[in-house]
Amino acid sequence: MSRICDKSLSGLRGLLAAGEVKAAEAVEACLERIRATEPTVRALISVQAEQAMDRARALDAAGYDPDMPLWGVPVVLKDVLATKGVATTCASKILENFVPFYDATAVARLKRAGAIILAKANMDEFAMGSSTENSAFFPTTNPWDPERVPGGSSGGSGASVSAGQCFAALGTDTGGSIRLPASFCGVVGLKPTYGRVSRYGLVAYGSSLDQIGPMTRGVEDAARVLQVIAGHDPRDSTSVDRPVPDYLEALGRSDLKGLTIGLPEEYWGRGVSAEVAESCREAVALAEELGAATVPVRLRLTDFAVAAYYIIALAEASSNLARFDGVRYGRRDRDSADLLDMYVKSRTQGFGEEVKRRIVIGTYVLSAGYYDAYYRKAAQVRRLLRRDLDAAFEGCDLIAGPVCPTTAFRLGHKVDDPLAMYLMDIFTISANLAGLPGLSLPVGLGTESGLPVGLQLMGPAFGEDLLLSAARVLEEAIAPLPAPSGLA
Ligand code: GLN
Repeated sequence: MSRICDKSLSGLRGLLAAGEVKAAEAVEACLERIRATEPTVRALISVQAEQAMDRARALDAAGYDPDMPLWGVPVVLKDVLATKGVATTCASKILENFVPFYDATAVARLKRAGAIILAKANMDEFAMGSSTENSAFFPTTNPWDPERVPGGSSGGSGASVSAGQCFAALGTDTGGSIRLPASFCGVVGLKPTYGRVSRYGLVAYGSSLDQIGPMTRGVEDAARVLQVIAGHDPRDSTSVDRPVPDYLEALGRSDLKGLTIGLPEEYWGRGVSAEVAESCREAVALAEELGAATVPVRLRLTDFAVAAYYIIALAEASSNLARFDGVRYGRRDRDSADLLDMYVKSRTQGFGEEVKRRIVIGTYVLSAGYYDAYYRKAAQVRRLLRRDLDAAFEGCDLIAGPVCPTTAFRLGHKVDDPLAMYLMDIFTISANLAGLPGLSLPVGLGTESGLPVGLQLMGPAFGEDLLLSAARVLEEAIAPLPAPSGLA
């Protein structure tokens, strides 16, 4: 039965539609896989086994509905997405017992499309991190090697999909948190254009950067999930009112003829490990064989992107996290002398180290004396960076490079060195700062580490259809990855 879990989402849909697999069987298979893998992987903060089974039985009783594009498909959600009646912790002690009374729009849309919510995935606390080691509860491990991190901050989502616990997961990406774990875990991850997917019900980290997106075992699966969650939402004023293309139809192309891929000099040189460069270069060579032209492009501000990002994201975080004051949500200290004491104690006990570090930095860069020196400068760099990317896209259709300079690193290896951790985001954060879509595609296993390598494709705003179609052509030409080696 657990072989059902080795199917792609698209494969499962076929079986469900044909009546060969019941929704309840799909859920049971996932629960069985969760029981088998979770002791090592630890991808999930909570599993909604009973609710999922009830929902599956109800779907089975009503019969397959071709108008529900994710009918009977078990999915996992990063625990930063509000779920009605189900604890939403953000992997933080401060929200440990927080149960929202509404669903995030992306979650509501998944449910409406017939998806079954199976579990809430582990993450770095409030999505702050690149390894999922900042979870207040426990670290998640990489299904390819239990001594390695799955990447972060959507590491639980990535590991869960990679381990076959579900057929798709939602992650969120503020500076790379979908693409990095997708790359480390050998799955597909797509960060949509800012505004493509509603952020309503997503607990905000950096509101001008955050996007929700799919993590799946294949490109077609990502297209199916994006189709469901994308689109305008009156509840999120930053969601864009623009028609959603048919992403599945966009997958029709069979080669890359007529496409020009830009290769930023800054993404292919210094600091990239030999094995990552090699796998990514092979993938680009394959793209050329498939008809794509490649051109060099310059993204001169890449070196400043990390600094600008960690000012803007942290400034926004310090403001967004002010709402966790012990009054409105979550944990409250019960024996404080007065109101201020209660705020201080609730926050001191509720937030972890990294979150506190970021609140302090974020508050500092916004403070009266330093605003001009830091925040305003970072905002200027952000604008220039966007201009560079726009200029690059005048000469190419897509931009390609590694997702991350290395493959998955060892647990504990970078936790004490926040700057080294921040540098993991060097190639992913530009897309967030500029609001552009980015996709991580597994392109092979590193020759040295034997771990997955992800190629990042960036596209122009609202170019998800192009990203997906190009990624699909490449995916079909690349030998599929074997099952994750850490689970054997
Ligand atoms: N690693 C980055 C950070 O810690 C990105 C996180 C994210 O995308 N949520 O801010």
